[in-house]
Amino acid sequence: MELGNLSLSLLMLIAVALAWYSGYKTQIKSKTSQVKENNKDYFIGLNYLLNDEPDHSIDAFISSLEINSNTLESHLALGNLLMRRGKVDESIAVYQKLLANSQLNNAELNQVKLGLVKSYVAAGLLDRAEKLIDELKVANSEIRMKALNMGLTIYQLEKEWLKAIKVANDLLKLCMPNERHEIQVKASHFYCELAEAELEFHHYNQAKDYLNSAINMHRSNVRTSLILGKLEFEQTNYKQAIKTLLRISTQDPSFTTEAFDLIIASYQAQNNHKKLESFIENSLNETSSPALLLKIVNYIKDNEGREKAKEILFQRIERNPSIELLGQAILLNDNSENDPNAKKFHEILIRYLRSKTQYQCDSCGFKMKNLHWQCPGCSEWSFIKPIEAFIEEAK
Ligand SMILES: [Zn+2]
Repeated sequence: MELGNLSLSLLMLIAVALAWYSGYKTQIKSKTSQVKENNKDYFIGLNYLLNDEPDHSIDAFISSLEINSNTLESHLALGNLLMRRGKVDESIAVYQKLLANSQLNNAELNQVKLGLVKSYVAAGLLDRAEKLIDELKVANSEIRMKALNMGLTIYQLEKEWLKAIKVANDLLKLCMPNERHEIQVKASHFYCELAEAELEFHHYNQAKDYLNSAINMHRSNVRTSLILGKLEFEQTNYKQAIKTLLRISTQDPSFTTEAFDLIIASYQAQNNHKKLESFIENSLNETSSPALLLKIVNYIKDNEGREKAKEILFQRIERNPSIELLGQAILLNDNSENDPNAKKFHEILIRYLRSKTQYQCDSCGFKMKNLHWQCPGCSEWSFIKPIEAFIEEAK
């Protein structure tokens, strides 16, 4: 057993022993036969402990406790411990036994319901959890906040974005000022999810309404600019698309690469070659991002030829060395068309460059190839950033 689990079990046992003593004292006067039965459970628990089976021993100790206000904490702790150990069914059984008990008052029953919500979520019984959260609307603000946060988790899992937004708004009314930002960031992304779904069906007005709400929740959410840029482009509002997408460099410059292709396409659709050239030149001068440099070099190769692209690349590679740029330099430098070995080498190199992870979560470190707005590792929003990997030794 891990040291952490062992000390947790020991702490639980001390708490249970104390609670048992207190419960024992309240029972001793009136229920002699019950006490004898509980004593039996107590000694069974002790036996499990001596046999190094702390889970069973805790269970047996708790069974020896009458359910009342004095012992509730121990019962709740057992339910929580079982859930954290993955014994979700047993944890649900503990809470359900508590709920069936008539000695607990409403505030105590609400504490039990909150524990049961967590176990239902862990078991994937989301509809039952939702029902309980609804019942907890009348609980005190602390329990209500915790229940609403569980609701937020459930609606994100179910991708029920409208319900998630409603919960986020309820939370905003109850939370402390320093908790607002985190909730607003999430709600902004919920609106973006809705906007993207509407955009897919070309429902531009509805998508725009959701985007406005997303912007109101969190002005510097780059995702709003990317979606709005796409929406304006699809509606052939190229000038507006460019203006929206250029805003990203002030919101979060690490995302400018994401908007590059659409900005180029918008200038091309406008036939505005002069502004396009100056955009390329500015991007080249201002960026140190390997991913964006790669996009620029590829654009120059397609539009001004391989020699010009090579010239630009070799100027920049010394200042911003990266595996991507070195790989591109090899691809541009060799003419592999007449050499089967070089061609094979190029294919392997291209596959390698494409397989590289491009994004990383700043919160949990999860790396991924494609951009996700919600981290698949830790479920946080707005923590994923493009990786700007330079080769330090080469600098
Ligand atoms: Zn993460």
